[in-house]
Amino acid sequence: MQRGQDAGRRDKRVRVLHALRRSPGLSKVALARELGISPGTVRLVTDELFAAGLVVTAGRDLTTGGRPSGQLALNSSSPLALGVDLGEVEMRLGLLNLVGELVSQRRTPFDRRHEQVSVDQIAGEINALRASAEGTVAGVGLGVPGHLDLSAGRVLYAANLGWRDVELRDRLSEAVGLPVLMDRNTNSAMLAEQWWGPAFPTGPALFVTLGSGIGVAIRVNGLFLRGAGGAAGEFGHLVIDKRGPECACGQRGCLEAMASGRAVQRRYNQLSDESPDAGNISELIRAARADDPAARRALAEAADHLADGLATLVNLLNPSTVVLGGELMAAEAELLPVIRDGIRRKALSYSAAQVEILPSSLRDEGPLIGSASMVFDAVFNQRISLDQACRDHGRTGADLLAKPGRIASGRV
Ligand SMILES: [Zn+2]
Repeated sequence: MQRGQDAGRRDKRVRVLHALRRSPGLSKVALARELGISPGTVRLVTDELFAAGLVVTAGRDLTTGGRPSGQLALNSSSPLALGVDLGEVEMRLGLLNLVGELVSQRRTPFDRRHEQVSVDQIAGEINALRASAEGTVAGVGLGVPGHLDLSAGRVLYAANLGWRDVELRDRLSEAVGLPVLMDRNTNSAMLAEQWWGPAFPTGPALFVTLGSGIGVAIRVNGLFLRGAGGAAGEFGHLVIDKRGPECACGQRGCLEAMASGRAVQRRYNQLSDESPDAGNISELIRAARADDPAARRALAEAADHLADGLATLVNLLNPSTVVLGGELMAAEAELLPVIRDGIRRKALSYSAAQVEILPSSLRDEGPLIGSASMVFDAVFNQRISLDQACRDHGRTGADLLAKPGRIASGRV
């Protein structure tokens, strides 16, 4: 029962915070009306959020002698979240504030020669970015392209990083002295859409990464579907054509072997008479836009294969929203109409009519913003307390509240 009450309170806290993120300046009365919860509960929840330093009053009401106006907003001066997105060749790091702005960024080639070198390098980059931060860093969110054991904080296998069974989370947390959270980078990209994208789907939603690999994040009732061993989401290994090209997994004709960024480049090289060997996906897209028939055909075939795979997902999961991201979505104009049309023709009509297929609104910043958003998600859900978040600067939530220019008194 107690656990049910806690979960109910936490759910309301998260809903209030998201409502203020979408509509800064709401009053408590407006919040109660918008969220359909009682004014008493809104008061209780907003008091907790004030105490945690996550919410402030948005302005002063001059008609009452400058008393707080009663308009609420997220505290943009509250602790920052540090995101790290580990990629095949580089890592990107960024500091995100509570209103969704990346206030500072770094990117650096990723040294993968030895796992300890990598962990030391990540820690060094985190410390360098943190040293430049104006304000407290609440924690680190790490997006990893691999199969993870989240309870142990280990990377079980990350083909693109060449890592197998690497203890990452706790080593990194020890090295930087901050809470570290981690997740698959496809899940973090989806979290970014849910937090900061214009569409905030309430029904089952999917995020599909179309890059050098193809993966899907599946979110139902606010939770990621992770599978028994954390390996769910390997959408790229759905077999599309049993006689198709060989896949890294050992099968033939997997979606990843036919429609990933690498597969599209390989197909282009096969189709092209002049064998120009497009060096990367951006060059291939440029060629398609300059009417190179081989580039156009390689993208059209990939879109058709993706529609086959996505139609299966739509039939299986009946999602309300599918968001497509990753480097291949730079060819959105070429891919999206074919994918939408293919799903309409190939999926069962009932599910096809209900699903909205959208491009990622955050483009290539999604995985980085999402990695940082893991920290806010944990703070909102009180898996990281603000006192814990502020310990590096020796401040507490109460101190933050008392800082001039934020809020004069503890409660409103
Ligand atoms: Zn495969």
